[in-house]
Amino acid sequence: MYNTIDIPLFITIESNALHNIKKILQKSNLHMNNPVIVTDAGKSLEYAKMVARMLRIKKSKFIMVSFNTYEEVKRVERFARNLKSDFIIGIGGGKALDIAKFASFRYGGYFLSIPTLPSHDGIASPVASIMIEGKRMSVGASMPLGILIDIDVIKNSPKRFIFSGIMDLISNVSAIEDWILAYQKGYEIRFNGFSKAIALSAAESVLNFNEKNIYNEEFLKILLNGLVLSGIAMEIAGSSRPASGSEHNFSHAFDLLYPDNTFLHGEKVGAGHLIISYLRDKNEYKKILNCFRDFGITVELKKIFEDKDKLLKVFLKAKEIRKDRYSYLNEISLNEKFYKNVIEKVSRDIFSV
Ligand SMILES: [Zn+2]
Repeated sequence: MYNTIDIPLFITIESNALHNIKKILQKSNLHMNNPVIVTDAGKSLEYAKMVARMLRIKKSKFIMVSFNTYEEVKRVERFARNLKSDFIIGIGGGKALDIAKFASFRYGGYFLSIPTLPSHDGIASPVASIMIEGKRMSVGASMPLGILIDIDVIKNSPKRFIFSGIMDLISNVSAIEDWILAYQKGYEIRFNGFSKAIALSAAESVLNFNEKNIYNEEFLKILLNGLVLSGIAMEIAGSSRPASGSEHNFSHAFDLLYPDNTFLHGEKVGAGHLIISYLRDKNEYKKILNCFRDFGITVELKKIFEDKDKLLKVFLKAKEIRKDRYSYLNEISLNEKFYKNVIEKVSRDIFSV
């Protein structure tokens, strides 16, 4: 038995990477004949223009996306196909990367990932989050052939986006607990120790990092490295198991019940992680809570913990979705009053900063 896995040809996380893109690609022996650039409005467009200048890509090879819908994926696919492009370069936060990686998977071209925000582990994962017929779906997509992250670009991220990335990465601790549980109980046939080791050490590199200044360059490199490794762990596992468990069910439930919410992915995942770890393992809970507190994340999380009735509804919904994907949520069958009490206690900890 063997695994076929796609590992990026190069992963560059350094200062001034956009400016040096030509050199970086040359060093990796990566030649693009006819690339297209997928990006979105705002700052990403500025970065995309810089990449285009460095690689001499014409404006006519740009395609702007505004929503991560299936229609947009097909539009990008048609665009690349009509131009007979060999590469799709995704430059942006979530949307542009999700669309670029899914479009290149469908089209068959290579994908180059240039994330401009550190808010989630989708920057290098083989999974894209796409709205299909009004529902947010996780679909299989291309692993990037290369990942280029400019730390000077990441440094410009609002702190909320960095917090979100930290929480998405640390949630691997919870996801792995669920993966092991499902495997031990026979609900999950495949378990990959290598993938687990990568995902867990990526999370712990941030969880145990002493410097809590999120704009510290060394820290940002470790965070981005961790998010990239998380994506690779999913590719090795052949599923999102190492980075998505019951805490991600919580986030999915939030989006199902409140599709217009403006919380970031990592914020919903982090809130879910706190509530679930409180129930599952008080030591895990304390460690996560202390880490969030030291980074200053708990101050931001107050917003999501303001409406406790909403959180209770989300928690009960999370127990109902993806039941086939066995997790700690399948194990607990206590009454509503008990969960209400748990949310109350976690909330008190968040507000006691
Ligand atoms: Zn996630």
